[in-house]
Amino acid sequence: MYDTIIIGAGPAGLTAAIYMRRANKKTLVLEAKVCGGQIVNTMDIENYPAEMHISGMELSDRLQNQAKELGAEIKYEKAIEIRKIDDFYEVVTDESKHKTRTLIVATGADNRKLGLENEDELLGKGVSYCATCDGAFYKDKDVAVVGGGNTALEEALYLSKIASKVYLIHRGNMFSGDEKTVDLLKKQKNVKMIMNSNVVEMITGDDGKLMEIKVVDDDDKESSVKVDGVFIAIGYIPETQNFAKLIKLNRAGYVKADEDCETNEPGIFVAGDARTKEVRQLVTATSDGAIAATKAIKYLNNL
Ligand SMILES: Cc1cc2nc3c(=O)[nH]c(=O)nc-3n(C[C@H](O)[C@H](O)[C@H](O)COP(=O)(O)OP(=O)(O)OC[C@H]3O[C@@H](n4cnc5c(N)ncnc54)[C@H](O)[C@@H]3O)c2cc1C
Repeated sequence: MYDTIIIGAGPAGLTAAIYMRRANKKTLVLEAKVCGGQIVNTMDIENYPAEMHISGMELSDRLQNQAKELGAEIKYEKAIEIRKIDDFYEVVTDESKHKTRTLIVATGADNRKLGLENEDELLGKGVSYCATCDGAFYKDKDVAVVGGGNTALEEALYLSKIASKVYLIHRGNMFSGDEKTVDLLKKQKNVKMIMNSNVVEMITGDDGKLMEIKVVDDDDKESSVKVDGVFIAIGYIPETQNFAKLIKLNRAGYVKADEDCETNEPGIFVAGDARTKEVRQLVTATSDGAIAATKAIKYLNNL
């Protein structure tokens, strides 16, 4: 019987493991793919406090080593289901079953992709899903933002202060995001809106980096837009559906919880990108990890 099982070894889950172990709680971390989560393939992180430059892999390794050295157990198994049995929970994985008194869901979210052939290959070479993370790399360059919701609008506004030109490409004829942000964007001289259009191809230069995108409008008219970067902001897919029987999700699939990281189920907590929140970043994920673990420790100490 574990004191806690943490599902997901991203920054939120590994931080939670560090806190749990420092409180001497028997901790298992389950990871479906690789430790580190979304950040592992990122070459350069510039916004993690006290680290001017660090690669995603190095940050992940350090987090993982810290959790392990403190005594957290890590198993590479995918959690398929959570069951409540009497006063404990059973986590069913693709390989086994584990018992625990508390659970921290830290399964993160995946960016929704455009589905273009070389999209994955160009990650970090012109393709990004996060302007706050990567915008600074495109100072005085030309970029495109794809999407029509609040995230896309905010990203375009953020980038308009950094890049020399921002193309905002939306497949519809109206934005679904806030009108106020649309009005602000219309006032930016370096923002051009391209409506009723889809990005259909990403073309690279000899250096393998993005240099141009092909856009097709509703009348099948094709045009080329020269850009150094394209920011895809068409939503996220939270990795939470496996647990929906026991914990409440919002319509988009995020686990419903406030800053206290408590779910509707008393012994189950949520941390990081999988939670309903506004800012999905490394610092907010690690912060959630600390809060969720502290709550789980209090819960265990009161049993
Ligand atoms: C390309 C890219 C660059 C980024 N750059 C920055 C940056 O520079 N600065 C910044 O602050 N933020 C950045 N972010 C955002 C940041 O990575 C996320 O906010 C952060 O990783 C969220 O951490 P998390 O632990 O909540 O989730 P994740 O990092 O998504 O980790 C969740 C983990 O859970 C695992 N998992 C999912 N389902 C299961 C399951 N059923 N069973 C077991 N394991 C499971 C996943 O495999 C994954 O390892 C970037 C994101 C991306 C995609």
